Parts: sequence; structure tokens; C-alpha cells
Amino acid sequence: MTKRVFASFIICFSCSILFSCTKDSAKGTAPPPEPVSGKTYSADEVTAFKQMTLKNTFNRIIKWQKKVFFYIVHTNYPYMTQEVDNILDEINQLLGSNLVVERTNDWNAADISIFLTDRATYITAEPDTKGSLENSAYTGLAHLKWDQGIISRGSVFVDMIKTAGDTVQQRYLIHHEIMHALGFYGHTSSPSAYTVLYHYTLMPYILNYTTFDKRMMLLLYNPAIRANMNETAFDEAVKAL
Ligand SMILES: [Zn+2]
Repeated sequence: MTKRVFASFIICFSCSILFSCTKDSAKGTAPPPEPVSGKTYSADEVTAFKQMTLKNTFNRIIKWQKKVFFYIVHTNYPYMTQEVDNILDEINQLLGSNLVVERTNDWNAADISIFLTDRATYITAEPDTKGSLENSAYTGLAHLKWDQGIISRGSVFVDMIKTAGDTVQQRYLIHHEIMHALGFYGHTSSPSAYTVLYHYTLMPYILNYTTFDKRMMLLLYNPAIRANMNETAFDEAVKAL
């Protein structure tokens, strides 16, 4: 499991994700499951969803179960502030009451802190990320903490120094990292997936959530998909969706 997880770090040049779950419920190897599909979700979509969720979170669905407040630590990039606001609006329109997100100006009220800075500043603020960031070329990162499948806090980092002047990449990165922060802690290698969370960065940069991304968000935040579900429980639930 650890080796597979590590592999996904290596192939994602833009981003690394860190595992903060204190409960390691990884089990022994199981035979490859039969592809599962839902009523409206194809087998390819279900497979991709699992790669982005269960396969990278110790076989548990992780998601937010409350209104999520985002705080931008560095507001000296107005176009990034605007991008974050656009993203939050889009998520609210898409998910309705199943997930409500809002930007706050009070850091104490923040669930997700967004760092638009250099990596040293981010590592100081989020020391758990040191090992992952120090000797890497990553230009972004998402970091979450959860318990029993319920995400409690996190942070998002875009390396504005490494990407200086490349506003297109920066806009892509903030979409990529915020999607991680919703609970999609992995990437997908499914050939049919056109997504900001592809296991390598698709070019040209994707600057808006795709139809596929939105379908994945709708699936994760469908009330039938519950926090802390394992793959078996997820399979049963998704068949009806
Ligand atoms: Zn990533």
C-alpha cells in the first residue's frame, strides 16, 4: 500500500499529498474486484472515483460533514483570490446543501487555510509537510486531517515562487489542490478521465472543473456515500446511484 501511494506521489509533478490519518486500517492484499457500476455512473467512473478516494485513504471514504470555511493566508495575488472565490461559488452551485463552502476573513474560523507563498513559509506553518516538500519539485500540495472518515481541517499550498509568472499553471494548481481538499486525496490514471486530478498534469492546463470532476464531486457528496465507508459498503451504495 505504501509503495503504491508513493508511486502516485512521484508521477504527479505538480502536487504531493500527505497522509495524516492516525488510524491505519490498511488490510492485506485482496483479489482484484469485479468492476462495479451504478445506474448513472459507469464502471470507468466508479473505478476512477475509487482511485481518487478509497485507494489513497486506507480504504475509507473521507469527506466534510459541515460547512467548510476557507481562509486565504496570502491575499497579495488578487487573481488567485478571485479564482478561489469562483471555485467556491461553483462548488456551492453544484453541491447545494450537501456541501456548503465559504471564504472567511477570520483565520481562527478556518477549516482550510490556503497558502500562496514559498515552500519554506508553508513548511513552517504545516511542519508535517516537510518530508514531502523538502526534496521534491512539487509546485502544490494539499494536506488533510481526518478521523473516522470525517475531515476536520487542512491546508492547500501553491508554490507562487516556483511558478512565478505562470499564472495559468497557478490557476490550474488551485483547482487541483482544492479538489484534493474536498476529500479526493488521490489521482486517477483511468484513460477515460478528463480531470484536474489526472495522475500527471494534462496539457493544456485545465482551468475549470470538468464535467467528470463535477460528477465525481456529486458522487462523493451524495448523502448515500457516507464518511468512513469502506470499498464493500461503497460498492453496494453506488450500484443504486
Ligand atoms: Zn495532486
